[in-house]
Amino acid sequence: MEFRFSQKEEKLREDVRNFARAETAGREIVSGMEEESRDEDWGFAMSMSKKLAQKGWLTMAWPKEYGGQGASFFEQHVYIDEASYWGIPGTTMGVSGIGWVGPSLMIFGSEEQRKKYLPSIAAGEPDGVWCTGYSEPNAGSDVANIQTNAIREGDHYILNGQKIWTSCAHRARWCWLAARTDPNASKKQHGISLIILDMKSPGITIKPIVNYAGIHIFNELFFDNVKVPVMNLVGTENRGWYHLMQSLAFERHSFAPQFYGKGRRALEFMVKFCNEIRYNGKPLAVNAVTRHKLAERAIELETLKMFGYEITWKMSKGLIPVYEAARNKAYCDFVMQRLAITGTEIIGAYSQVDINYKWSKLMANFTRLYMMFPGLALAGGTGEVQKNIVGQFKLGLPRAY
Ligand SMILES: Cc1cc2nc3c(=O)[nH]c(=O)nc-3n(C[C@H](O)[C@H](O)[C@H](O)COP(=O)(O)OP(=O)(O)OC[C@H]3O[C@@H](n4cnc5c(N)ncnc54)[C@H](O)[C@@H]3O)c2cc1C
Repeated sequence: MEFRFSQKEEKLREDVRNFARAETAGREIVSGMEEESRDEDWGFAMSMSKKLAQKGWLTMAWPKEYGGQGASFFEQHVYIDEASYWGIPGTTMGVSGIGWVGPSLMIFGSEEQRKKYLPSIAAGEPDGVWCTGYSEPNAGSDVANIQTNAIREGDHYILNGQKIWTSCAHRARWCWLAARTDPNASKKQHGISLIILDMKSPGITIKPIVNYAGIHIFNELFFDNVKVPVMNLVGTENRGWYHLMQSLAFERHSFAPQFYGKGRRALEFMVKFCNEIRYNGKPLAVNAVTRHKLAERAIELETLKMFGYEITWKMSKGLIPVYEAARNKAYCDFVMQRLAITGTEIIGAYSQVDINYKWSKLMANFTRLYMMFPGLALAGGTGEVQKNIVGQFKLGLPRAY
């Protein structure tokens, strides 16, 4: 097994690093998503998306005809890892479009939909910003329980219902929506369809939800007789459940390089801090408890790196990762949680203080990570749900109910 990147991949890593140093120094994002909260951060993130697109990186593994570069999965992996390490804002544009709407449309969207929606995502334009509307007040892990209705009337669906926790809805131009098109279907998984919703349609109300860290990522969405053209149906009517499963796998597979990149930066900071800060006359780094905690986090991050490589390798060979996306998501949550806890433990009370001090950026980063990781662990499906998938598809356990 060759554990080395090609010269081309190493050159890409260097280019991304130089880009980050030149364009984004001092404006990095740590835990992801928070760029959606404040207008000025969002404006900066979108300006970066455009530049990343011009570099050909934003959707580099997409085919050229849809605005990509036809790059390899490993090149894409290197880009995501390095961009995440540097916390370059705008690398995901609200996540949905780049992460799963684009890849899903390439599989089960119509050619018309691909031509209409993919280029603006690849170009990093505001028109290419998407949100995802799956969760409802009584349908989170049990997403098959969705009650939002899209009832066909002639050449339109009439949409009524409510979504919740919709990240980026306040920034998005389009919503990748799951709705019930056949309320009388015999099983709850049947009768669901995936629909593209124009967020400018009359009848949509967006209510912000500000999380406990004071950050506005997600929203409630209310639909009151919203008209959606039938041509916005994605794939086959009432087969949306199966499309959704594919889309969720896309959502989960990219977590490993992203979180590995963020994690290794955080750990590097922490190592520097422990080498420099003195405790009882000696560097903190010689304290056995501190050393062991840092070493444990390093081992976990290395494992996450390998998980990421494995899934990328499988995809590059045309294989379909089945349980691996769920495994990677569950493990990312674990790794980031432990890293955030170790960081705040080592920094101690300083982690809560916002002072103008050499290490204050590191401290703020760990505080932010600590505040954000419980939410990030839920987004994209909870750990329990991922473990159920691993149990079923890796261990052959019976399906969970
Ligand atoms: C930061 C963030 C961003 C999000 N963004 C979006 C978004 O953009 N679009 C969107 O649609 N949703 C989004 N969500 C919602 C997210 O997908 C749901 O919160 C998640 O799927 C869990 O659903 P729930 O909150 O309804 O919890 P529930 O499903 O009610 O779960 C409650 C608890 O029960 C456990 N549980 C449930 N079922 C089982 C089971 N079968 N076996 C074992 N344990 C189980 C869960 O693990 C959890 O601990 C976001 C959430 C967060 C936190």
